[in-house]
Amino acid sequence: MSKRIVESYRKKLVAEEGYIVPQRGGLRIALCYPNTHSIGMANLGMHTMYELFNSIPGVSCERVFLPDRQDLIEYEKSGTPLLSLETQSRVKGFDVIAFSISFETDYLNMAKMLQLADIPVWSAERDEHHPLVIMGGAASFLNPEPIADFTNVIAVGEGEILAYQLIDAILENESKGEILLELARIGRGFYVPSLYDVIYNDDGTVFDYLPKQIGVPKRVGRALAAVNPKEGTLRRALRRGETELAEFLVNQDTFCPSTSVWSPEAEMGERLLVEISRGCSQGCRFCWAGYNYYPPRVVPAKDILEKAREWRSKTNKIGLVSTAVCDHPEISTILRELRAMDYRISVSSLRLDQISDELLDALVESRDQQIAVAPETGSDRLRRVINKNLTNDEIVDICGAVFDRGMLTVKLYMMVGLPTETEEDLDEIFVLVERVKDRMLEAGKRFGRAGKIITSLNGFVPKPNTPLQWDAILDERDLKRRIKYVCKGLSRIPNVEVRFMSAKIAHEQALYSSGDRTVARVIDAAARHGDLNRALRETGVDAAFHTSRDRSYDEFLPWSIVDSGLSFEFLKTEHEKARESLSSLPCPAVEKCTTCGVCPSTWLADAPESLIQIQPLKVKQALALATC
Ligand code: SF4
Repeated sequence: MSKRIVESYRKKLVAEEGYIVPQRGGLRIALCYPNTHSIGMANLGMHTMYELFNSIPGVSCERVFLPDRQDLIEYEKSGTPLLSLETQSRVKGFDVIAFSISFETDYLNMAKMLQLADIPVWSAERDEHHPLVIMGGAASFLNPEPIADFTNVIAVGEGEILAYQLIDAILENESKGEILLELARIGRGFYVPSLYDVIYNDDGTVFDYLPKQIGVPKRVGRALAAVNPKEGTLRRALRRGETELAEFLVNQDTFCPSTSVWSPEAEMGERLLVEISRGCSQGCRFCWAGYNYYPPRVVPAKDILEKAREWRSKTNKIGLVSTAVCDHPEISTILRELRAMDYRISVSSLRLDQISDELLDALVESRDQQIAVAPETGSDRLRRVINKNLTNDEIVDICGAVFDRGMLTVKLYMMVGLPTETEEDLDEIFVLVERVKDRMLEAGKRFGRAGKIITSLNGFVPKPNTPLQWDAILDERDLKRRIKYVCKGLSRIPNVEVRFMSAKIAHEQALYSSGDRTVARVIDAAARHGDLNRALRETGVDAAFHTSRDRSYDEFLPWSIVDSGLSFEFLKTEHEKARESLSSLPCPAVEKCTTCGVCPSTWLADAPESLIQIQPLKVKQALALATC
């Protein structure tokens, strides 16, 4: 084992506060983030699961990251197997390896970490003595198929809800087989790929998934709030006299996803990160974060402010994490109270149609000099195609309101290669950016400085469980040409900086987000030698088959093994409306709504009133029941 790696890990720990020193014995979980420590510690999913697992009695959880470049060289040179951060223990020695994956492009790193840990990447090659490999995180319920054959269990849904059921099943059963069967038979939240046969048509498309055992569901439901999984755990805890666990569960409704380990060396490390809401109601047709977190939910202001008070002695910077900050019904209270605590507030991103004066004042006060907004295109028609219902005039006015407050740097997110996009649509990007620039310079005169527009260009990548899931990504050469054309045109506009994602990266992302199980061979090979094209040649997998063809409505989509709750009819209708450049109303997030199909399913009747708050009443009932 390399002393240099051990020292570098201990140095990281010295700079941190709040990490948990694991107790001896009990169930040991290695929580893996498929990227470096600096990036992983800016991910709230990682903080949330670390805090949750370590709060369950009898469970100890340590963090594991993809080694940074320096350490990776040392790992490969010394042959040291992958180590955990807290105790520098071999990951191979843990009972459970749980990956938290937010982005499909991290699938390569996941395979790399298993290789570094000297654990067979393919689940079929692992035996009873190998750790149980679990995958969770946003990418899991998008399309788990490309990494299905690497994992024993895929947590389909939100970890805050699934963690207890998972631990219960592991502690209640002896063998891996028993654990997997129990989880699979829950029917919601846990997908066990090894318990399905994938049947393919002659043309290579998926025909169907056949469960191999009785009681294993045909499709796996997404878990936003199963019928209070904690009730079962609470009953068992009380039957066994485990009052500590029971007390924790009853008090669970104060849980608020936020920074759990203070890690100043990490990205945004000087900031307390707090998730204030999940999901967005707007229904932009390309956006997986919107549809895959339907219906949008909020964390109560009292919990957010309590967290802020708790951390105020450590920092005066707070990042509010949400895709729809101003949709929070208590946003005024939150901003007012945070300003009263003298916090410098920043937000992850801002939706153009909901920039409030109050929020702008708070951002100006925080001396935040830059905001990020997403017009996506310069064409009003194309914006209706993607159901982002804003006109160029409105966008210029909104940016103007920002500039008039002296915030003279704006980041504009744009997409190239959207369905039905024409060359004229590309030219309209220049017109819009030119107008925003002129508005900025006009405001800048009052502040005696110019300002800057940062345009961030991304190729459109179709995402599962969105209305545009049936569309192909633009051919790589054409996408490259269009990105180049837009970059060139934008770089001619003064005060505009251009950043872009390459067509190659967009196609790689498309392969992992739209591929089926055959893509796993590509990931394994690419993780071994780091070259995707070589991996495609070696495995003979035709990437274009997965990415560059429009799919018919009759095709069985690989990711539909996971039931997102969104109805086929809803997605098809939205897709057809996109073709007609017709827009739709936002998700009303109200009871009795049946529009997209997510809410009618029984599970929402038991859903938490807010993000993860359990319904106190139900728990009290369970308590009463358990003690009688
Ligand atoms: S059923 Fe209605 S309220 Fe529920 S997520 Fe869908 S659109 Fe929103």
